[in-house]
Amino acid sequence: MMPAFRAVGLLSGGLDSALAARLLLDQGIEVIGLHLEAPTACRSDVREVARDLGIRLEVRAKGEEYLRLLRNPRWGYGKNMNPCIDCRRFMFLLGRSYLDELDAHFLFTGEVVGQRPMSQVRSTILMIDRASGLEGWILRPLSARLLPETEPERRGWVDRSRLLAIHGRGRQEQLALAASLSLRHYQSPGGGCLLTDARFSARLRDLFEHTPEESTRMSDVALLRLGRHFRVGPGRKIVLGRNREENVRLADFEDAERWLVEPDDFRGPSALVCGPREEHLLAQALALIARYAPDAARGGRVRWREAGELRTAVLEGEALHAPSDPAGSNSPD
Ligand code: SF4
Repeated sequence: MMPAFRAVGLLSGGLDSALAARLLLDQGIEVIGLHLEAPTACRSDVREVARDLGIRLEVRAKGEEYLRLLRNPRWGYGKNMNPCIDCRRFMFLLGRSYLDELDAHFLFTGEVVGQRPMSQVRSTILMIDRASGLEGWILRPLSARLLPETEPERRGWVDRSRLLAIHGRGRQEQLALAASLSLRHYQSPGGGCLLTDARFSARLRDLFEHTPEESTRMSDVALLRLGRHFRVGPGRKIVLGRNREENVRLADFEDAERWLVEPDDFRGPSALVCGPREEHLLAQALALIARYAPDAARGGRVRWREAGELRTAVLEGEALHAPSDPAGSNSPD
């Protein structure tokens, strides 16, 4: 028999949303996992989680609209650059649009009352539901019995007595439940969102302070995940790879506004220059490469492309001066 009701759940890859999905599956609800991607999220094995649960997974991007929200959150930031209230509302609005598309009856999340100080206080949870136009249509199976009855419960689609009343920041109940349900694939508790990380937040703040809103792109945010960052002026930054893998990944960011300077005949960091093709930016990129590849500081050759032409230069070591202080908020590594 086909399940009578279908729910869309925001699936992060973490334990709580996996447990919430499992509780509904156990009530015969058809569950579709919706994973909303952004470069501010830690990598998660959400596909493994969905496979483990045996559910269909839809992966969608939060998109450039999310970037605007990050810059101008109506309800402000948490301890770091995490605009949790705006973010939850944004995700619910996206989820709401997918309810129709996926022909589903209601939305659910793995939220736990009292788990996060900003967005998971009971009154704030209810306020976000109202602000997203979904009051009564978002079920939180892990804490449902601490919250007002939702429509799916009232209409008898979901048995409220089989939902839970978990509260607070502790993880013991969830871990015990995961063990009893043999859930295996989920991200370790506490990880998940880089916006709650102080060092990532410092980089994001630096990006917003030095880049006009209209020219900030989501790929600028994605770049914050990589390398050592050196602010060398408004709209001008140099990012150095810390290892071979990062050097390769930096190359993917090269475009009309970012250009790559790479070691040609020695081992060392690549430098992604974010800004126009200016001589002083090239000089600073060479100086930084020399600083982090001291063995090649004299005589090593680097290459870059300019107007489609391959150009090279030889590092001159101490003759060049790198930005004086790479430590600090914009270069936490
Ligand atoms: S922790 Fe991150 S992903 Fe979660 S609500 Fe806050 S900003 Fe959004």
